[in-house]
Amino acid sequence: MKIVFLTDLHGEVWKYDRLLKAARDFRADTVINGGDMLPKTGNLFDQDKFITGYLEKHFKKAAELGISYLCYLGNDDLRIFDDLFERTCEKYRGVVNLAQRKYDIGKFEFIGMNWVVDYPFRLKDRCRMDTKDYDFQRQYGKGLLSTQDGFEELPDWVATARTLPTIEDELDRLPKPKNMSQSIYVIHMPPHRLGLDVCANGSEVGSKAIYNFLERKQPMLSLHGHIHESPETSGVWHAKLGKTLCIQPGQLTPFMYVTIDLETMEFERHTEY
Ligand SMILES: [Zn+2]
Repeated sequence: MKIVFLTDLHGEVWKYDRLLKAARDFRADTVINGGDMLPKTGNLFDQDKFITGYLEKHFKKAAELGISYLCYLGNDDLRIFDDLFERTCEKYRGVVNLAQRKYDIGKFEFIGMNWVVDYPFRLKDRCRMDTKDYDFQRQYGKGLLSTQDGFEELPDWVATARTLPTIEDELDRLPKPKNMSQSIYVIHMPPHRLGLDVCANGSEVGSKAIYNFLERKQPMLSLHGHIHESPETSGVWHAKLGKTLCIQPGQLTPFMYVTIDLETMEFERHTEY
């Protein structure tokens, strides 16, 4: 079973188009798109137009090629479009919204999670405290949640966040695989400590809860994204955590993706201009 994994395309059409070519060339069975799928420039409330105007055709093409497509929205994709996204995925065979779900392909079990640890940015649609004792970063302004009527400004985001489940709680709530050694976790947020979470300014913002979860559960593979520049900053795009291989391909101006053969566990990172 061969997969192509990429993340953080943020609505870049040429990368989406190139992705299907890469999947075909690699004879991939499955594409895994790790979140932040919609355009981030311009008005975020127009992201639905990208789903209906482009993404739907992209899913249709993948289905026609017989390539299954596991994906979810990310922290820069407004949660008010979750229903539209779900309905769009459901129209095409093999296209699956993997957010907080498990989907089996043959003996392999894929489990997705798109919650992220809180950050300084204002949009809080998918933000959580990492653990109960999480120290918040200095915020760039009042927190915002998307609603059908525009952004709702939160008077006290920190107080709101304390009422929500933590990343640690969310991980515990995920569907459980039957066989951990054949399970692949697709978690937008990277774990800490492995060099997969390093920002351009050198700060390491990864999740302790995700690290502890992977260390304890030991799936065969975990796939991450979110910190686009991390591989170029740290020089690291994959790491071993016990038996678990953790991959974070990053995403910068060129198209970056990883091909993986799950039978042989050979994997390679590709950068295309
Ligand atoms: Zn992200």
